[in-house]
Amino acid sequence: MTTNVGDSASGTHALNDAATREVRQRLEEERRTRASQLAVLEQAVERSPLEQVEASDYTRLENLRQSLVEIDGALRRLQEGTYGKCEGCAQAIPAGRLEILPYVRFCVRCQGRGDRGAR
Ligand SMILES: [Zn+2]
Repeated sequence: MTTNVGDSASGTHALNDAATREVRQRLEEERRTRASQLAVLEQAVERSPLEQVEASDYTRLENLRQSLVEIDGALRRLQEGTYGKCEGCAQAIPAGRLEILPYVRFCVRCQGRGDRGAR
């Protein structure tokens, strides 16, 4: 068997070791970026007088915190071997979607069916 990542049309979505490592790296990088953005924003908000803090700042804070939670969840699923599976219908999430949104939990169909949480 040659490495053939990305072609998961067969349904069962077992990532090989190399792919798993790559995803984990991406997630950890993403996590670091978000965490530092969050730290910067938190400081900015803390230093500003309350009346100068915009509602959108809180939204951004909330979004960043949410994505950190999502990333942690994805890392955990990666470890448990359930990464890439839709939490709604248990089908494999297409590789292309994971490429864009490595910590997404739902396939397009389930996501559209009722945007859970975030946003
Ligand atoms: Zn689904």
